[in-house]
Amino acid sequence: MTFAALSEIRSGLTALSEQGLLRQRRMLQSAQDARVHVDGRELLSFCSNDYLGLANHPALAAAVAQALPEMGVGAGASHLITGHHTAHHAFETKFAEFVGLPDALLFSTGYMANLAVVTALVGREGEVFGDKLNHASLNDAALLSRAKFSRYAHNDLAALERLMAASTARSKLVLVDAVFSMDGDVADLPALLALCEAHDAWLLVDDAHGFGVLGAGGRGSLAHFGLQSPRIIYMATLGKAAGVAGAVVAAEHDVITWLLQKARTYIYTTATPPLLSAALLASLQVIAGADDRRTHLRELVMQLRDGLQAQGWELLDSATPIQPVIIGSNEATLAISSALLEQGILVPAIRPPTVPVNSARLRITLSAAHSAADVALLLNAMGNA
Ligand code: PMP
Repeated sequence: MTFAALSEIRSGLTALSEQGLLRQRRMLQSAQDARVHVDGRELLSFCSNDYLGLANHPALAAAVAQALPEMGVGAGASHLITGHHTAHHAFETKFAEFVGLPDALLFSTGYMANLAVVTALVGREGEVFGDKLNHASLNDAALLSRAKFSRYAHNDLAALERLMAASTARSKLVLVDAVFSMDGDVADLPALLALCEAHDAWLLVDDAHGFGVLGAGGRGSLAHFGLQSPRIIYMATLGKAAGVAGAVVAAEHDVITWLLQKARTYIYTTATPPLLSAALLASLQVIAGADDRRTHLRELVMQLRDGLQAQGWELLDSATPIQPVIIGSNEATLAISSALLEQGILVPAIRPPTVPVNSARLRITLSAAHSAADVALLLNAMGNA
């Protein structure tokens, strides 16, 4: 008997391949760093989110090594059963203190944290509002909540205001990437908070790309704007600038306690290995003292933008380490990415559906692990490509 569903998948794969949209993985044979080993070659990498160069930092590695004999490897259970370790708890306490919010809860991933917050705060009778360029996990969270989901054009706060004014929902929640992951621009959080205050809504700030990078001491986008409000739910991922894995939600104490009761992606999953929390505690310390890394990173961003602009590439209005170069067609973007790879440089081609159709781009991300000479090599290769 023919298996129709499998045949459909096979034609789907063929179609993706023909459109240049078949996603494939690359295998790293080294630690995450400015230079990585792939397929036996050393490549200069501009594609990680390891903005501060902490993924392979000795202080974090030492914290893991020290924690291992004490804590073992696996957590063995979910947090509410017997998986919650003093290391997890110590990280949550320190994190809340660090970002100046009353309480915090550790999640296994940012994706799960976003699902948790949205589904715990709104249901069928609620309405969720989101920027069209928000991360997929925020969109999925809105869908999972079964609330009405209204999206507005990127940064169009007038459109958001109209939607909020027209809403009759019992509870409202605005979702936003503080730093947009594919464009690198920073959301106008003060204006968003003002709208939330005017229309009695929650504001979920996804600071995946801002925590560690923006704000005094790397405290993130809320610190960058000097914002504080009980309406704000702050979500930082910990696998990017923090160099480890996981995510943390910080908010009012009662909101955190509510998440602990209601967040299915917290309750029904095994706790992360506690030794990762030991690494995260070390990471917080490094982040707080990493002004030199952040200054170096800003200088690299300026060097790259100046050089690319001089070569005539189309850039976006981004002052963050996320520096997209807009190409347009999938094929041309792939061709430039391949030309860079031939020159020993790894820059990913980002295509739809991750970004809008006809806006395929090279997504260059910089890290404090890069040197000015590394950026000069990239500029030279871009000139050749
Ligand atoms: N939010 C944003 C804006 C992201 O870029 C990402 C990861 N790419 C996530 C959430 C998900 O975080 P995690 O990788 O920890 O699941």
